[in-house]
Amino acid sequence: MVGDFIDLRSDTVTLPTPEMRRAMAEAPVGDDVYGDDPTVEKLEKLAAEILDKEAALFVPSGTFGNQLSLLTHTTSGDEVIVPARAHVLMHEVGAAAFISRVQLRPLEDPGGKMDPDEIRRTIRGDDIHFPRTSLIWLENAHSLGWAVPLEHIKEVRQIAMEHDLKVHMDGARIFNAAIALGVEACELAKYADSVMFCLSKGLCAPVGSMVVGDEMFIKRARKNRKLLGGAMRQVGVLAAAGIIALTRMVDRLVEDHEKARYLAEKLRTFQEIEVAWDRLDINMVFFRFRKVVDHETFVKYMFQNGVKINPPDDGEYRLVTHYWVEKGEIDSFVRILEKFLLEVR
Ligand SMILES: *Cc1c(COP(=O)(O)O)cnc(C)c1O
Repeated sequence: MVGDFIDLRSDTVTLPTPEMRRAMAEAPVGDDVYGDDPTVEKLEKLAAEILDKEAALFVPSGTFGNQLSLLTHTTSGDEVIVPARAHVLMHEVGAAAFISRVQLRPLEDPGGKMDPDEIRRTIRGDDIHFPRTSLIWLENAHSLGWAVPLEHIKEVRQIAMEHDLKVHMDGARIFNAAIALGVEACELAKYADSVMFCLSKGLCAPVGSMVVGDEMFIKRARKNRKLLGGAMRQVGVLAAAGIIALTRMVDRLVEDHEKARYLAEKLRTFQEIEVAWDRLDINMVFFRFRKVVDHETFVKYMFQNGVKINPPDDGEYRLVTHYWVEKGEIDSFVRILEKFLLEVR
């Protein structure tokens, strides 16, 4: 439960664990803009170590980390090749145009993968009419529920190398992807120049994301973070929760995946419901109703029965499992759903 609700809207609704709250209260802190916060230093070291990169930077949010990476990798007017349904394109308020002033070039992304030949064709040549391509964007796990396989990432790295481009990975849920693929997260990160990942989603930290990369990149990103107003002072109180997130909360993500599969299996028993079985790699279940359902009525009905869900996107619902949703609560959700389908039409 999150408060009095079964909250399936997102893993961003996760509350800090009691252990995090204790660590936050007791964290040694200092002014991180002066480099004086030992807890932030510890978190950044830990993040770099886990992802096997030279350096890391604590940032206020995933959006901040993505936009900061864009700003640090590109020059305004550049073109960035992105998966068509990537978060950076769909859900970051058009910030790429606003902050870095780059052009995002979307390529179809079935399975979370762009077609390598299409990437090659899309990279701009030397023509007076063309912008400069400078960056290829990856998202793993993809927000539509896919863990993108290592082979694809290697292939993109190869293309980037051939054309002297950088690769950024939006790894908001990189640990979910790694678990789904049965590889270490650092193995996924290896093929990207920079990776952003979130502490505040399935890992339950209240605030914060990390950007990792080589020392030069992080040094420049640190300055750009200041420019964007994201340098914080005694931020060790937040970093302390991040340390717990990375040391205690990563391996248990597999439970969230199991709960998602459990939920999907339950939904399978309803003939009125169609589950997107090809997008069940992580802690998300996507489904549609096979019959006409008034979406507003459904979401309200759920709310009145103690369940929070997001309205559908183009008729498709997304349910997200996390630390604060127990199996019994999934059973409760399914019972309420059953009641809805019987009572309402
Ligand atoms: C959540 C998310 C982000 C942004 O994180 P916020 O902390 O919400 O700004 C970026 N990319 C992906 C794929 C995400 O799922």
